[in-house]
Amino acid sequence: METESKTALGKVVKMKCPHCGKGHLFVNESILSFSKLGQVKSECTECGTNFNPEPGFYFGAAYVSWGLTVTMWLAILIALKACDALGILEFGFLTHPKTFLITGVAFTLVLFPLLFKLSRSIWATSFIK
Ligand SMILES: [Zn+2]
Repeated sequence: METESKTALGKVVKMKCPHCGKGHLFVNESILSFSKLGQVKSECTECGTNFNPEPGFYFGAAYVSWGLTVTMWLAILIALKACDALGILEFGFLTHPKTFLITGVAFTLVLFPLLFKLSRSIWATSFIK
């Protein structure tokens, strides 16, 4: 039996069924695997809620993914500026653009599966009741 998430935030973060909070949303439950990355189960294994209410339902999750990615890049910029202020490394947005780009691209590649699944989980929890 799956563990239950009761709050919307818990359902999103744990990628559980938006209705009952017990069944897992994705075929592959790993957040760091590229295998079957975007495959959402057809229905909840616990309550039978339809996870694909209409064709192209998860298309809108791309906008959520964009928001998460922009937020991550802003967090990286703030972290690099904080490291510069603390004297850990020398960083300026205009003087060291490669540091920002390399760090941002590295985080984007590593966190892509997590952000992709999280965006679909947010989308499903927002619109499936
Ligand atoms: Zn369910």
